[in-house]
Amino acid sequence: MRRQLYRATGNVERRDGGAQKLSLPSAPMDRPLRIALLAPPWLPVPPTGYGGIESVVALLADALVDAGHDVTLFAAPGSRSSANVVTPLDRLHPDEIGASVVEADHVARAVAYIERAAMDGNPYDVVHDHSGWVALAMADRLPVPVLHTVHGAFDDNAKRFYAAHGAKAAISCISKAQAATRPKGLRVDAVVGNPIDVEAWPTDHPKDDYLLWVGRFAPEKGAHRAIRVAKATGRRLILAGPVQPGQERFFAEAIEPHLDGEQIQYAGEVGGARKVELFAGAHAFLMPITWEEPFGMVMVEAMAAGTPVIAFARGSAPEVVEAGRSGLLVGDEEAMAEAVHDAADLSPAECRTSVAERFSPEAVARAYERTYRAIAMPQARDGGEQEGELEEVMAA
Ligand code: UDP
Repeated sequence: MRRQLYRATGNVERRDGGAQKLSLPSAPMDRPLRIALLAPPWLPVPPTGYGGIESVVALLADALVDAGHDVTLFAAPGSRSSANVVTPLDRLHPDEIGASVVEADHVARAVAYIERAAMDGNPYDVVHDHSGWVALAMADRLPVPVLHTVHGAFDDNAKRFYAAHGAKAAISCISKAQAATRPKGLRVDAVVGNPIDVEAWPTDHPKDDYLLWVGRFAPEKGAHRAIRVAKATGRRLILAGPVQPGQERFFAEAIEPHLDGEQIQYAGEVGGARKVELFAGAHAFLMPITWEEPFGMVMVEAMAAGTPVIAFARGSAPEVVEAGRSGLLVGDEEAMAEAVHDAADLSPAECRTSVAERFSPEAVARAYERTYRAIAMPQARDGGEQEGELEEVMAA
């Protein structure tokens, strides 16, 4: 049984022991919703380069506004959206990414805003939290139902955290594979894949013959394995992505010695037109992951650009890639090298349609909207069977 202190009592409990009556949202059935979207404080929405969560939040915010909802986006300074943008912090903190002092400051200011709106008689129907840890840890103190989307993998730390705090809000996962690795007892209310704006990717870009890998230089993303596969096929490989703090050694030891500026090239962190060109011009996108990838935006981006994805069949890859239509699933590097030839049989138009059918911002916003309405009516949610209740847009 979920406990939300404010929602359950209808009171705001004050530090001084008093209580103030709030006008809480009634269970909304079909009227437009007032939605507070909480983005992380690290990067502007939309991001200019690397930034998976920020691009999800950007597309979701716009799609919810297009669907007629009243959306407030709490995000880092420099954010732009058709939603009302509130920037709780007055500057970016590029050298402190992940620092709890920054996240707590961002969330506490957003929560104060949300609480003030409720006290002013203009409450939000739902808070949709994408911001990390602090908001979920305190979600049962919010005056509004909270949906928290799990964006990362359930590693040991995350498992402990969600086991302790996951019942304080409704939870959504971004793939069934991610949901399957949740800690025992954590209830998942919805599985909703990440959105992509397929129209923003070109349909008629000329194809080149290189292989592409895009990601962080964390070993589990498999850049080193992509290099071995490229060498086995004799094709060019372009690697793109940021070397984030902590990844310098892996990059220096496993990647840099192979960079020859010809067969194995490093394009640095890419964004904008350069990123689009790289994705659209590739013969195939390599996803040689060695972990349970929770979603993998790069896979849907490649498919949207008409580029088939060759992925190790781990984590979300079997859900995101339609094997034989928008890509190929393999078990090891040798099979990946063979699949590079077979990828020529896959049609760029089919890759694109496969993504448009399942991950359009409209489809994702609709799935979240159904979840928002369900969590705003707690009686409809409590006590049901877990499996039957999952909102799933991946399978739609
Ligand atoms: N990205 C980018 N420029 C880069 C490298 C990555 O814009 O140089 C983007 C990439 O296109 C994708 C996101 O960063 O949208 C990475 O998300 P993904 O889910 O693939 O991986 P994560 O790093 O979140 O595990």
